[in-house]
Amino acid sequence: MTNNTIAAISTAQGAGGIGIIRISGDKAIEIADKVFVSFSGVKLNALDGYRAAYGKIVTDGETLDECVALVFRAPKSFTGENVVELCCHGGNLITKLVLRAVFANGAVPAEAGEFTRRAFINGKMNLNEAESIMNLISAQSKSALKAATEVRQGAVSRKIYSLCEGLEHIAAHLSAWADFPEEDIPEVSEENLRKTLEFTKSELASLIKNYDAGKAITQGVPTVILGKPNVGKSTLMNLLSGFDKSIVTDIPGTTRDIVEETVVLGDIILKLSDTAGIRDTENVVEKIGVERAKQQIEQSQLVLAVFDSSKELDDEDKMIISEIADTPAVAVINKSDLESKIDTSFIENSFKHCVYISAKSGTGKDELIKAVADVTGAKDFSASAVLLAGERQRVAAQNAVDCVNSAIDAMNMGFSLDAVTVDVENALDKLYELIGKNVSEEIVDKVFHNFCVGK
Ligand code: GDP
Repeated sequence: MTNNTIAAISTAQGAGGIGIIRISGDKAIEIADKVFVSFSGVKLNALDGYRAAYGKIVTDGETLDECVALVFRAPKSFTGENVVELCCHGGNLITKLVLRAVFANGAVPAEAGEFTRRAFINGKMNLNEAESIMNLISAQSKSALKAATEVRQGAVSRKIYSLCEGLEHIAAHLSAWADFPEEDIPEVSEENLRKTLEFTKSELASLIKNYDAGKAITQGVPTVILGKPNVGKSTLMNLLSGFDKSIVTDIPGTTRDIVEETVVLGDIILKLSDTAGIRDTENVVEKIGVERAKQQIEQSQLVLAVFDSSKELDDEDKMIISEIADTPAVAVINKSDLESKIDTSFIENSFKHCVYISAKSGTGKDELIKAVADVTGAKDFSASAVLLAGERQRVAAQNAVDCVNSAIDAMNMGFSLDAVTVDVENALDKLYELIGKNVSEEIVDKVFHNFCVGK
C-alpha cells in the first residue's frame, strides 16, 4: 500500500453551487492546513474527525475562495485514511486552482477510482460494494438506483456468503472424509450433497436471470428506430424523449444523421438512435445515412420498426421487415388517428409484438412500454430481488453454476467423491471471486479502471 497522499476534484466539472476537492492519505490534514486558513484561527490538525471549519483557501498570499473544510480521521473515513474535503464554490477554474495548490503542497493526483480502491484495500467495503458505487453514480432510473443502493448495502455479498456457507460445509465434510478415512467420519449423504448443489444452482441461476432481465433497466438497451421516410420516426423519438430533438418535416429523408438520445420508457432505459431508415436510394447524402442504419441494426438489441398506417404497405416497408428479421423488434404502427390503409395482418404475421399508436398525440404509448418490457425481458425483472452489480459478477456467477453443474454430473455418473470435491471447491473459488475475496490484482485493476477520477 502506497503512502502517497492523493487529491482530486470529487464533484462534477462545471459551474455549480459547491465544488469539493478531496484529499486522502497520511498527510491529508497537514497538506490541507497549508492551503486552508480558518476564520477562527483553529488549525485542521487540532480538530477531531467529523469536524468542520470555515475559512478561506490562500495560496502564495492570495485568497482563492471561501471554503468549508471537513476533517475525517482514519479509519473513520470513506477511504479508511485521513481525509479532508475542501468545499469551495463550484466553478471550473476555482476547483482547479485549489487542486493545484493542494498538489503544490505535497499531494499527488488521484487515479481513476483510487479513493474507492483505497476504501477496498483498507477493508471499508468489498469489491462488489465498490462496483455498486459505479452503478449508483451512473444510475438513470429509479430501479437502477435502488438496485445499486442495495448492492452497496451488501445485499449481494450476504446472498453469496450464504451460498458459500452451504458449499463450504459440504467441501469441509468431503475433504475430511477423504483425508481421514480411518477417523470414521460419516460419509456426506448423497441426498444432502445433491440438495445443497441443486439449491446453490437454482439460487445462482435466478440471480443471473434477474440480472439479465434487469439489464434493460440498469444499463439500457441500444435501440434503433427504423422506418421509411415520413412514417413518423422523429415524431416518435420526440414523444419518447419528451422534447424536440429531431427535426420533424414533411419532406422524405430529412433525418439524415443519426440522432442519439437516452430515454427512460417506464422503467426501461432505451439508448435510442433515430436514423434515415433503410431504403435503396441514389441520394448520396441519404445513402450514408442508410448504410449507417444497417450498421445500427447490427449494433442494436432492439428495433422499433415504424409504419404509417394511413398508407398501404410497400416494398420499402417489406424490405425493412426482412432486414430486421433476426433482431428483437416491436412493430410500431403509427398515425392511428388517421384512417387505416395498411395491411395490418401482414405486419402482425411478421412481428410478435405490434402496437398501434399515434406518435403525434401520444395515444398507445403505454402499449408500447408494455411491448418493450416484454421484448427486452424487463417484465421478468424483480426490483425486490438481489441484483448482481455488473458483467464481472455475472461471469463469476455463471462460472460457479458451471462448476456446480459439473459436480452434479460427476455424482450422476457415479464418479468418486474426490471428483465432486474438486468441482465444489472450484465453485467456491468462483463465488469468492464474485464477492472480491482472493481476487487477483488484475481483476481489482479492471474494476477500478472504469471509475472516474475523484471517486
Ligand atoms: P420521419 O421522416 O419518419 O422521421 O417522420 P416525421 O416524424 O418527420 O413525420 C412525418 C410527418 O408525419 C410529419 O408531418 C408528422 O407531423 C406526421 N406524423 C407523425 N406522426 C403522426 C401521427 O401519429 N399522426 C399524424 N396524423 N401525423 C403524424
